[in-house]
Amino acid sequence: MLKKLSILLLSLFLVGVLAACNSEKTNGNEEKGEGKVQVVTTYSIVYDIVKNVGGDLVDIHSLAPIGSNPHEYDPLPEDVQKTTDADAVFYNGLNLEEGNSWFSKLMETAGKDGEDAPVFLMSKDVEAKYLTTKGKEGEEDPHAWLDVRNGIKYAENARDGLIKVDPENKDVYEKNAEEYIAKLEKLHSDAKAKFDKIPAEKRVLVTSEGAFKYFSDAYEFQAEYIWEINQENQGTPDQITRIVDIINEKEITGLFLETSIDARSMEAVSRETNVPIMGKVFTDSLAAPGEDGDTYISMMEWNINKISEGLTK
Ligand SMILES: [Zn+2]
Repeated sequence: MLKKLSILLLSLFLVGVLAACNSEKTNGNEEKGEGKVQVVTTYSIVYDIVKNVGGDLVDIHSLAPIGSNPHEYDPLPEDVQKTTDADAVFYNGLNLEEGNSWFSKLMETAGKDGEDAPVFLMSKDVEAKYLTTKGKEGEEDPHAWLDVRNGIKYAENARDGLIKVDPENKDVYEKNAEEYIAKLEKLHSDAKAKFDKIPAEKRVLVTSEGAFKYFSDAYEFQAEYIWEINQENQGTPDQITRIVDIINEKEITGLFLETSIDARSMEAVSRETNVPIMGKVFTDSLAAPGEDGDTYISMMEWNINKISEGLTK
């Protein structure tokens, strides 16, 4: 009963907030998207893949901002409104958006938690990998997009979702997806060719978060990290000591730092081991528009180039 009451109060509060938003925004922005499929995506990488498949037919609002950590996010009133109004929602899944359960709570608030709700899982048909940290075994690792073969599945799922909500434009979505997937196939084979030049014993990738399981599987690397998954407790003294030992033991010559992560822990590891940080890599976010790495393809190209340069030096 108490729970019902609090949900009712929350709903009333949100209706108030939404009404306030609405009255401020009746002109301008809203008109731009007229007639287009209104889409919400959870973070920048999913945004870009859906954008490539949807082209001019979609108008996309992306939730976790560029440069932020999509594992934990607090939706704004604007996000609730856009999600409520959306014709389709696309999310990564594999636990990415569930660090503080923000995504399932948002879907509930926005009335998109029903069985037939137009909410589409980008990682559908991806073979999940699991965390290995004690107490977290059995939890899915979300970073499937770092294997471009999975990026292709994301594009197919974006296509199928858009066709479902906008069947009239099926041909356009199919054509866009086909062209985009051809580019991703080339990206994947170029990556393999480039990494083949790195000697096997040098193919160890050290990052802050253990985001490279899928990547390592695809491109035959060994992935090491300070902490396994982004959460509140990270970069602890124990975690630093553990990775320092691994780096010394394996004679690793270069470290990498993710763009969406505080640099201090990796800098501490670098000081302790005298092993340099060879460059920045993208994991959980694209770069700001106009910069290198501002699309899924460009962020993967950046990673492929930085990693191969850094490990062949
Ligand atoms: Zn992550």
